[in-house]
Amino acid sequence: MTDLINDIQTESDVYKTLLESTKAIPWKIDWSTLQFAYIGPQIEALLGWAPSSWQTVEDWANRMHPEDRQWVVDYCVSQSQSGIDHEADYRALTKDGEYIWIRDVVHVVRKDNGEVDALIGFMFDISERKKTEQKLITLQKELEELSFKDGLTGVANRRMFNMVLETEWLKARQNKQPLSLIIIDIDFFKEYNDCYGHLQGDDCLKQVAEVLNGAATRTRDFFGRFGGEEFVMLLPETDEKAGLAVAERCRQLIFKQQIPHERSKISQLLTISLGVSTMIPSQNNQFKELIDRADKQLYQAKQQGRNCIQSA
Ligand code: GH3
Ligand code: MG
Ligand code: MG
Repeated sequence: MTDLINDIQTESDVYKTLLESTKAIPWKIDWSTLQFAYIGPQIEALLGWAPSSWQTVEDWANRMHPEDRQWVVDYCVSQSQSGIDHEADYRALTKDGEYIWIRDVVHVVRKDNGEVDALIGFMFDISERKKTEQKLITLQKELEELSFKDGLTGVANRRMFNMVLETEWLKARQNKQPLSLIIIDIDFFKEYNDCYGHLQGDDCLKQVAEVLNGAATRTRDFFGRFGGEEFVMLLPETDEKAGLAVAERCRQLIFKQQIPHERSKISQLLTISLGVSTMIPSQNNQFKELIDRADKQLYQAKQQGRNCIQSA
């Protein structure tokens, strides 16, 4: 008998040693009292709070970043109540007032009758992984800024547009040729996002970009994303009449796509408004004027009721 007790004692010592020497921090919460039955001593090395200071789930919730607390607590409680194993990433408060990213992996232990008995889990320090993720996001943004391609739609971006405009402006001035600019803006796109969600909004922007990218056909014609739900088309050696014709083609191409937009106040389908400006550049004006004029015309088109073109 003593041998058996000794064996059991030794075995549980082995488990305890194993549990307390891993980097992951084990813990157990009694579901009926919502009190910690156990938390690994490693918690003190990671967060600075002694194991004895982890009494109830309140201590756990209070030592969480305020921005994470609400959803993490709600999520963990509802998953636990439903008896579903789950995990959550959140920022845990250290005794020094810093925050450390933690992944909490939770297993729900049930009684024979199916009721929740306890929660056991492991906390993992994932701050390094989060730092790497953050670095990647920053790098991606920097790369986008350095590139000439719009990350979402794949068409030329604002940076490219600025460069092309500068070049074409100088050429048009030299050759005394008209240069036309069309600014295109989707009608009621905020409502589109509100109705169908931001992801479908993104898909819609991709579709609009793809269609419009094929609308101007001459080799030096330029199309790009101006920003948000606005696009630009720059047409060298194109007078006002020809510019208007291209704008009308754009308007019709989008309408023909029959993209549903049930919250649009003017149609059940997605529509665009367009502002066109045409100039023969001289020494006295700058390319910014071409943009300003097209912008004003776009504003007029919105005032006129949208799904239309205004030009000057
Ligand atoms: P208006 O007819 O007057 O142009 O109305 P609008 O709602 O289109 O105009 P507003 O400029 O108020 O809203 C533009 C919306 O476009 C708001 C913004 O959330 C959305 N938007 C901008 N960029 C993106 C994007 O990259 N993806 C998605 N899904 N939406 C975007
Ligand atoms: Mg806009
Ligand atoms: Mg708009």
